[in-house]
Amino acid sequence: MFVSPLGILIHPEYGLWHSYRGGLAFAERLDLPSSPRRSSPCTSCAAKPCLTTCPVSAFSAGSYDVPACRSHIATEKGADCLSGGCLARLACPVGAAYRYRPDQADFHMRAFRRG
Ligand code: SF4
Ligand code: SF4
Repeated sequence: MFVSPLGILIHPEYGLWHSYRGGLAFAERLDLPSSPRRSSPCTSCAAKPCLTTCPVSAFSAGSYDVPACRSHIATEKGADCLSGGCLARLACPVGAAYRYRPDQADFHMRAFRRG
């Protein structure tokens, strides 16, 4: 897993389409199979559309303007973000097959808008 320019983690296969709600802690180290070494897909992504797609430029490398985003999705112009999911996130070509379904994106965006 790698940090993307959006600040959220990106997986080489699943892209930006994963999230975590908890973790497990063990007293002893588990003998797990090793995973292949991979590099960040962002390294070879020259266009970086994730940084240029947001209609209110909420993302720049290393920062996310949450108030600007929230204000936008509260307006009619932000309807696409609100019902279909973050356009900047959707612009990423990695893991496109794992994008959230529209109803799932809608659920999360409405929860985010409420704050
Ligand atoms: S669009 Fe490119 S730079 Fe942005 S998160 Fe996806 S792979 Fe990384
Ligand atoms: S949800 Fe829309 S306004 Fe908010 S960061 Fe994503 S693209 Fe920008």
